[in-house]
Amino acid sequence: MATTHKTRMLIIGSGPAGLSAAIYGARAGMAPIVVQGLQPGGQLTITTDVENYPGFREVIQGPWLMQEMQAQAEHVGTRMMWDTITAVDLSGDTFVATGDSGDFYEGDTLVIATGAQARWLGVPGEQDLSGKGVSACATCDGFFYRGKKVVVIGGGNTAVEEALYLTNHSDDVTLIHRRDSLRSEKILQDRLFANPKIKVVWNKRVESFLGSAGNGELRAVKLVDTLTGEESEIETDGAFVAIGHAPATELFRGKLAMDDAGYLLVQPGTPKTDIPGVFACGDVMDHVYRQAITAAGTGCMAALDAERYLAAKEFAEAAKVEA
Ligand code: FAD
Ligand code: NAP
Repeated sequence: MATTHKTRMLIIGSGPAGLSAAIYGARAGMAPIVVQGLQPGGQLTITTDVENYPGFREVIQGPWLMQEMQAQAEHVGTRMMWDTITAVDLSGDTFVATGDSGDFYEGDTLVIATGAQARWLGVPGEQDLSGKGVSACATCDGFFYRGKKVVVIGGGNTAVEEALYLTNHSDDVTLIHRRDSLRSEKILQDRLFANPKIKVVWNKRVESFLGSAGNGELRAVKLVDTLTGEESEIETDGAFVAIGHAPATELFRGKLAMDDAGYLLVQPGTPKTDIPGVFACGDVMDHVYRQAITAAGTGCMAALDAERYLAAKEFAEAAKVEA
């Protein structure tokens, strides 16, 4: 039978933003509920080394960091739910979310921390060969390409990290980028260019992924030169698409203001959406910084603002009753 779980602070998403909001919300006595979604712990659970999250001198692992954040959130009083939200109703005095399980979650305040998902190229062969050589996660699937030839598509931090990571498994990694310079941080570029296992192919876009007639698995990527239009092919066993992420905001379309790319709009310098009591934090509202530390920071801000919103609302209601 469907259950309704009530809380003073409902948090959708369990990445650094959602869990930081939970830690602050719990310590403010809001007894938060976090609905974790399909990726408990968020994007950092699909990476390995994290070197830029403050507080750790040595390199730490993304999944470990997220386990620690969850343990901290639970330790101070957060309830974690294994569910995924499929619909939200933001029209009432409280905010109601429906879970895939059939349960309902009702929050006096709502913190949206649904983050972002990997983007795909949308070219022929990509979907058909997904799981048969085409992937969006080297740390998840790189192991399958031990001793084989792989390519990575993209030019940001993710692509460069994926290429570097893949050298743990393969001696033949090719990074394919549509321009002649990378967007990623210099320190990562230095490591990439210094790695003898990695080649970079510049000014090429992927036209399609080609399967093998024999086993139906990826055989090659077809490329087009972005300057000359010349076509070419690279034979490969694996292709890792690493071209960034799209915000997970479908649930809120038509209900909350968002920009053309789907990022939730907030009042500048705050996590406040256009509905009082509804806050957005992390990658779902930030197309600029998109880091674990900024997600955690805005998660903290969302919890503090949610607590202040509720305190002000309850004070006003109490004053009305007294009058
Ligand atoms: P996310 O981490 O994206 O988490 C979103 C959460 O929302 C997930 O738990 C998901 O399950 C949940 N969710 C989504 N939809 C629903 C729904 N309908 N119902 C319920 N829950 C839902 N940043 C760094 O600072 N350092 C790094 O070294 C670093 N490395 C990275 C490596 C990779 C491969 C990637 C992809 C990113 C990396 N980043 C790094 C960026 C960092 O991971 C993100 O900025 C950060 O995770 C964003 O946190 P978030 O909480 O906003 O969202
Ligand atoms: P990103 O920075 O947005 O880079 C996406 C890359 O893919 C760009 O190089 C882009 O090319 C390319 N691209 C986009 N669409 C394409 C298409 N259709 N065809 C071919 N190429 C395409 O995304 P990201 O690398 O995933 O990083 C996202 C955020 O997470 C960033 O803020 C990043 O700093 C952060 N992150 C941080 C770390 C870290 O700190 N170690 C690690 C991973 C990610 P153009 O350059 O031509 O636009």
